[in-house]
Amino acid sequence: MNATTPGLVCAHHHLYSALARGMPAPPHTPTNFQEILEQIWWRLDVALDLDMLYWSAQLGALEALEAGTTAIVDHNETPNAIEGSLSVIADACAEVGVRVISAYGITDRHGADGARRGLEENERFIKGGGKALVGIHAAFTCSDESLQSAAGLAKDLGVGVHIHVCEGVGDIDAPARLEGLTTDDWLLSHCVHLPDNHDLRGTILHNPRSNLNNAVGYANPARFSNPVALGTDGIGANMIESFRLAYAMQRSVDVTVGPDPAWSWLEKGLSIVPEARNDEVTWSYDPMDPWHLAFTAGVHPVEVKVDDEVVFADGRPTKVDADEIRAKAYEQAQRLHAKL
Ligand SMILES: [Zn+2]
Repeated sequence: MNATTPGLVCAHHHLYSALARGMPAPPHTPTNFQEILEQIWWRLDVALDLDMLYWSAQLGALEALEAGTTAIVDHNETPNAIEGSLSVIADACAEVGVRVISAYGITDRHGADGARRGLEENERFIKGGGKALVGIHAAFTCSDESLQSAAGLAKDLGVGVHIHVCEGVGDIDAPARLEGLTTDDWLLSHCVHLPDNHDLRGTILHNPRSNLNNAVGYANPARFSNPVALGTDGIGANMIESFRLAYAMQRSVDVTVGPDPAWSWLEKGLSIVPEARNDEVTWSYDPMDPWHLAFTAGVHPVEVKVDDEVVFADGRPTKVDADEIRAKAYEQAQRLHAKL
């Protein structure tokens, strides 16, 4: 028996990070989240060019499809390859057959000019018909002026904002900085250190594996009245695995809870990318029920349709050559790692 579901949605991804695996160790072992950003991610992102980004996005999209994920809500940060980056990501995903909602995460880390160029990339892509939200890296790396400009641009374009909020303790003043700016179509990623009672509007994106990996704490998203959706923060796009981990983490603080809340967070992704309801994933397992999946490892798709097109069958993508993508991504990763 094979059960079917709609396409799964990864509500917070960083396709630019797919080539990070195997990168050289930083000079000093990071001892907290700020140092992880400074010594790993902010060294990697400045080294990326558009060729690397293209193959990184293809690899990320391929791995999504292999996990039954047909839609990715991406957040891009490539400070030395801003212009055109959202088109590169959109093209890479379209070729594999995966939906993507992009955003360029603006920041003032490289000066006000960097933030301005990031805003312009969001505007260029969205005005050209691209599917995207306006991206902000996080309040703690942006001036008040940049936060207001991004919120204003999103309002003008009729889209939401995709932003990291209170991922680490260094961003605890985000609720005050963002006061009056958020609307229901904003996506607020992490919210680990966001107080229970806050005034931010939008969907909270919960990334359990990333939060564990960075030792930032448990977001416990059940404490919020906001809608909650699940993401990976760039660690692949296996959403069944993310659901299983979200359930286990919630269980670790509340032994009375079942897997239904975590499953509802997974399903909430379909509110962000409703088109994924038109997709169909046929699974190796039946039933695709939260109580089964919470305790069943290794469930995988046997066929994936996006709209009515079969994009994955017999363990392989149909529109692209998986071996070629992995070989090209490996080449680009070698080039990237040599620059670090
Ligand atoms: Zn993130």
